[in-house]
Amino acid sequence: MSIIKKDYVIKNQYSRPGTIRKVTKAIILHYTANKGGTAKNHADFFDGTDGGAYRYAGAQVFVDRIESLAIMPFGEVAYQANEAACRIAKLKGVLGNYAGNANVTTIGVEMCIEKDGSISTETFNRTVDTVVELCKLYDLNESDLYRHYDVTGKNCPAPWVARPSDFKRFKNEVARKLKGDTTSNKFYTYAPDHIISLVEIGLYKDVKLKEPIKRYAKGTHLTITGIAYDGKTPRLKTAKGFISANKKYVKGYHDYIGTIKVLVDDLNFYDTKRWNNPSGQVDKNTVLTVVKKVDDMYLLKSGNYITASNKYVQFSKK
Ligand SMILES: [Zn+2]
Repeated sequence: MSIIKKDYVIKNQYSRPGTIRKVTKAIILHYTANKGGTAKNHADFFDGTDGGAYRYAGAQVFVDRIESLAIMPFGEVAYQANEAACRIAKLKGVLGNYAGNANVTTIGVEMCIEKDGSISTETFNRTVDTVVELCKLYDLNESDLYRHYDVTGKNCPAPWVARPSDFKRFKNEVARKLKGDTTSNKFYTYAPDHIISLVEIGLYKDVKLKEPIKRYAKGTHLTITGIAYDGKTPRLKTAKGFISANKKYVKGYHDYIGTIKVLVDDLNFYDTKRWNNPSGQVDKNTVLTVVKKVDDMYLLKSGNYITASNKYVQFSKK
């Protein structure tokens, strides 16, 4: 289940223009600079229900001590990080009026601050979990996280500009949680087109990987023909036998066939190919990269599976 609750503001030119973003390359961390203001306060503020926010501002997600609120779908543009030229070349977008603009390539996450201006431990930890969820969804990792300060030079989040070690600690926490022990984090759960061995690996006749019939040196390229399971543990198949599917030992490569745009809210995705016990949900208008179609599901770049029904997703070829 998602820990990010939806509290969408109505579309408006100031805080939710409704523009669909095509790619997500990074997550930008902010602070609200509004002492004692909660996530709900900000959702209401940007909705215009308490007098209105008639300035171009916002972010997709606001986090405080008790909750994490999305005020618009992650796949829409928020005016969060473009008050000065973007300093990170790879984040400069190329979408119409937004040329050079990091708002079309990133998701903004705002941390609410306490009355004394600090980021509480609860808010810090909830922001870690929020960002981990977004990283899994968009196939990002701790090296794809930036402070607003890194992108435009703005003093935001001020506590992390004053003390960069706090941002480093945040990234370390995200990295630690991303390395968790779900099957798709540790193993390939689909067959890449080919792999390169990261260490010396064995070739086995048996899916249990009992007796090696050959050893491949580190750096060997092998063509993969399929996937097999030893109980719940995936193995990769080659024309000659079985090898490990452990991402610590092999790195897989695969072409992408295109992207999908999600057409409904709360669409389930799964960390292996199945239809029960979803790993999470995505919002309407989220754009995801598709590695291949497997029966009636798409395998996503993140390693997750999602329905291929055109009632729920719209596919665009690469
Ligand atoms: Zn900011």
